Amino acid sequence: MMETLRERLKRGIVLGDGGYLLELERRGYVDSGSGREKVGTGRGSGQFTPEVAIEHPEALRELHREFLHAGSRVLQALTFFATREKLTRAGYGAHTEAINRAAVGIAREVAADQALVAGSISRTQLFEREGPSAAAHTRDLFTEQIRFLQDAGVDFLILETFFHLEEMLIAVDSARQTALPIVATLSFRPQVTSTADGRSPSESARILADKGVDVVGANCEQEPARMLPILRSMREAVSIDIAGQPAAFRTSEAIPCFTRLPEFPDELETIQVSRTSFASFAREARAEGFNYIGGCCGCNPAYIRAMAQGLATPPLENAGGDKS
Ligand SMILES: [Zn+2]
Repeated sequence: MMETLRERLKRGIVLGDGGYLLELERRGYVDSGSGREKVGTGRGSGQFTPEVAIEHPEALRELHREFLHAGSRVLQALTFFATREKLTRAGYGAHTEAINRAAVGIAREVAADQALVAGSISRTQLFEREGPSAAAHTRDLFTEQIRFLQDAGVDFLILETFFHLEEMLIAVDSARQTALPIVATLSFRPQVTSTADGRSPSESARILADKGVDVVGANCEQEPARMLPILRSMREAVSIDIAGQPAAFRTSEAIPCFTRLPEFPDELETIQVSRTSFASFAREARAEGFNYIGGCCGCNPAYIRAMAQGLATPPLENAGGDKS
């Protein structure tokens, strides 16, 4: 019997995986939508949806295998942007259940008894498109997708890449209708100091901890160095476990989120950060008590392998002395 996420977190840092969509886009199996529309507006149709799970399952299976081989002990089912409404905009609405089931099945098959399988729930984009009036529709979409993920047998849920805390809280409510452990990670865009609806990282962490999530944190949009301060303020605010899954793209003070940079999505290679920054991030995470780490957009298995090596490096006597 495999340990649960909660048991595993008690023993120390959990190394996850990521990111799938951009890596599979680079490999030619995911459509960025950039040939048809301006990507990143939140108003587009089909970009970055996970139909690869039914159209090219072998490509998804191979990437899962590579992450597992690199040291990932969680495999995230590729169910990002797989709510019925988003898939309908992309032309795959009728396949919503099939895509969710296939994604979990492929992750489970590769994970076997080596890794936990997480179901991914992401923002719907409806809060960006319609504002808070989208709340009721959003709740229905999350409830349906979470039912698919639970029925398909995920071990826990990762609610990720939410820009609005209000939408995240709806997802948490839906997730809490199950008994599955919940990891909840926000993405900070356009600023690192607050969510899109004006909540600071520490305030967001407190609200989510009070809601009963198991782990709170941040994912995507920033490289490790720019994400660390966000995680530190969350660490100071709450006593539950902290998760960090940074992106591997260089951002700036002026534009601290890669999806707002002109390089997104077709010139991202020019702002790629090195895997060594992820090895450093893993050592920092251990020193600062962040218990769940992985990567997001721009990371591939080489980055996860670097993180595994970072975690395996014994801490130096005076490491982190600049923080004391
Ligand atoms: Zn990402």
